[in-house]
Amino acid sequence: MEQQRVVRDAEEYLQLVVAEVMAPHPAECVLCYVARMLGEHGCDETLRWTGRFRELRSPRATALEGRMQAVGGFCDCEVFLNGYRLRREHLERDIHTDELRAPDHPPTCAGVGRLDSTKPCTLWERSRRRSLDDW
Ligand SMILES: [Zn+2]
Ligand SMILES: [Zn+2]
Repeated sequence: MEQQRVVRDAEEYLQLVVAEVMAPHPAECVLCYVARMLGEHGCDETLRWTGRFRELRSPRATALEGRMQAVGGFCDCEVFLNGYRLRREHLERDIHTDELRAPDHPPTCAGVGRLDSTKPCTLWERSRRRSLDDW
């Protein structure tokens, strides 16, 4: 029995660690968080990481997923395909093609003022400029 309890404790501990690892960094913005989670865990074709950010940081910001969908992000990776991209100064020049591309390791989040903010930090810009909204 003793051994079973040790295993259970270890499992509970592991879950705690996992929850910690998958949480946003202090002052990390929603887009840097989602980009980091996509890099580590991939997309499951839902707004899983966006939703997780909201639950952990800003539970009352229930419009967050809708705002992502409004810019074409119906899952986490589409947010970056359709909605937002790194500003030009954060891109790297590919030495082979001489084209600008996203760096392998995304830059450190520039941070957001309030911890419960659901705004992206200054690293990001809207991919399409014509539908500027109030972000
Ligand atoms: Zn996706
Ligand atoms: Zn950021």
